[in-house]
Amino acid sequence: MTDTIAASLPAAIEWRRTLHRCPQPAWLELFATAFIAEKLAAWGYEIKMGRDIIAGQQLLPPNADQLARAYDQALKAGASEKYLAPAKGGHTGVVAILKGDRPGPVVGFRFDIDANETDETTDPGHRPVREGFASANPGCAHLCGHDAHAAIGLLLAKHLAANRAVLRGTVKLIFQPNEENLGGAAALIASGIIDDLDYLLSGHIGLALKETGHICLNVHSFMALSRFEVTYTGRPSHAALRPDEGKNALLGSCAAIANLYAIARHGLGASRINVGYHQAGTTWNVIPDKALFRFETRGVSNEINAYMVEKAHEIIRGAAQMHGLGVEIVPAAVASVAENSPALIALAEKTAATLPSVKHIVPSVAFNASEDVTLLMQHVQNRGGQALVALFGTPVGGGHHNSSFDIDEQVIANAATFYSAMLSAIQGDRP
Ligand SMILES: [Zn+2]
Ligand SMILES: [Zn+2]
Repeated sequence: MTDTIAASLPAAIEWRRTLHRCPQPAWLELFATAFIAEKLAAWGYEIKMGRDIIAGQQLLPPNADQLARAYDQALKAGASEKYLAPAKGGHTGVVAILKGDRPGPVVGFRFDIDANETDETTDPGHRPVREGFASANPGCAHLCGHDAHAAIGLLLAKHLAANRAVLRGTVKLIFQPNEENLGGAAALIASGIIDDLDYLLSGHIGLALKETGHICLNVHSFMALSRFEVTYTGRPSHAALRPDEGKNALLGSCAAIANLYAIARHGLGASRINVGYHQAGTTWNVIPDKALFRFETRGVSNEINAYMVEKAHEIIRGAAQMHGLGVEIVPAAVASVAENSPALIALAEKTAATLPSVKHIVPSVAFNASEDVTLLMQHVQNRGGQALVALFGTPVGGGHHNSSFDIDEQVIANAATFYSAMLSAIQGDRP
């Protein structure tokens, strides 16, 4: 392949900055969806969008107000109505397909595109502020680098389109919505769009790799995860006159939350539990009749996570019984454990060693968190394919999900170069 990546990096940086300026969270990535789809269509890709790629039960779908606001933001930022239309109801994301003239494997590349529901700093020393591409959408910002992931995908797409004549087999570029709330991968799988993948490659910038030019191909220890939203319903009453007539949902939820953290640790491996959001009651003198909280469990194996889920449900129901409350536990997200395919790690390490953009191959990194790419990996591997997640080094400002997160944009070219080299290696592997 002719290398067009370095020459296109300035354009890719512009795309990343344009995406950074209009960040949108899970299922609301309307601007990114239209921006990406329009470019890929212009470069000759077959485009799949909307219900063709997002199926099954959408966990925690956005409401009509959120969708209307996100649509307005996207339009104002210059998105094309034609490419907004398929995603308008919250069916965001794009899958772009490029077929070579010669037979070969189906190779998928997955890029997540959603932003975080947190404000970006307005500190004039923060580069996006200083250089005029900070988030224009209050309450939302790209603080995990998924704007760069999307730019990596676009840079790779442009490069592969320019080299279409030498392409073997099929390339599927998967721009996945809703990674942060871990809902996008399951919806993609439900649509069948990744059923034909022989290979799946994905990656994340930064995380444990803080130096540009560092790469890790042996990323392990993904944690299985489950998230739930819990609602308690009680009965309101006057706090002075008849507190005995009330059913206190706030007390029930507090009892549950305190005891969730007291689940006995599993002896066979690490687990986690966290309640990240809690809301209850209305005012001083009313026994609170409603409470809502969001919690998640994790485990180093699917079994340990299942143990945490089971114990958590017992506690939540027990607290409801103790306080005479109704309770609803709604699943909100799931991620699995997964492992990079050993043969693909070997091929990736051999390939990375030939790249001038790679200064150091970090032997292994424990991910120690959760990612829904694991669901995609398992789906591909269960059907006989191979999958790999890489890490691409870059400094990360204040850190991931921090309001002053920032990156070295060189990582966009570094990652795209690696993906392109892997495609060549895979095609050489299976001519
Ligand atoms: Zn993140
Ligand atoms: Zn991320």
